[in-house]
Amino acid sequence: MQTTNIGDATLFLADAFDILPTLGEVDHCITDPPYGEQTQKNARTLSDPDSGVTEHYIDFKMDESAVRRAFDLTGRITRRWVVASMEFRHAALFEKEPPENLRFVRVGCWVKANGAPQFTGDRPAQGWEAIAILHRAGEKLRWNGGGLRAVWEMAVERNNGHPTPKPVGLMLDWIRLFTDNGETVLDPFMGSGTTGVACARLGCKFIGIEIRTDYFELACRRIEAAHAQRDLFSPNGEAHKTLRR
Ligand code: SAM
Repeated sequence: MQTTNIGDATLFLADAFDILPTLGEVDHCITDPPYGEQTQKNARTLSDPDSGVTEHYIDFKMDESAVRRAFDLTGRITRRWVVASMEFRHAALFEKEPPENLRFVRVGCWVKANGAPQFTGDRPAQGWEAIAILHRAGEKLRWNGGGLRAVWEMAVERNNGHPTPKPVGLMLDWIRLFTDNGETVLDPFMGSGTTGVACARLGCKFIGIEIRTDYFELACRRIEAAHAQRDLFSPNGEAHKTLRR
């Protein structure tokens, strides 16, 4: 286990199942857990050919019981929203039976504007990901998006060194929509740290956990760069509630 602090971010190189039970309350969880075996089997992502790497196999996966355990632990410490880009089968399970302390609010959708084609060519490609939107049970819902739909259309980012990075724009939108300035956001499966990059840019506190050293180091570099840029150009962060749509 290793802990690194960068600005308002605390980053753990560790197993989320070891760290989550030790954390105090956070305001929100914005995350992206691994998909299940059925989807990850033989899954590939294409990289930018200019980078010299053309394909990555995705070698992290999580079964239903592990995803439920992770969100039970998250539900115990999260005060408001839990927003998770996740396998639609897992999102459907949460709708039927929400994790501890959480209420299921909505399934949203990220439409991948430049989604990969179906490699086998024998069926349509997926082209979208489900977003499970949950909230602390028993608490009043409030977000900054008024009547907006839970549909985001945004291009996939392909060559940041992680096989499945989320677009920074998507994380910026979610932080602006679901959180208030200066709140604390948790990402127990931070990968290359995109949620942390968005938090650094918008002035939120961030707690990130990643189990793999290479992705953890990548996340540290990206969050450090975002933090340095904010300090250089915009000491108070980008306008938190400036929605782009
Ligand atoms: N949203 C991230 C980004 O933009 O880069 C990608 C997250 S990726 C879908 C899920 C990440 O969870 C992977 O990087 C994987 O190594 C990590 N992971 C898997 N099991 C974990 C665990 N038990 N604890 C912490 N991280 C874990």
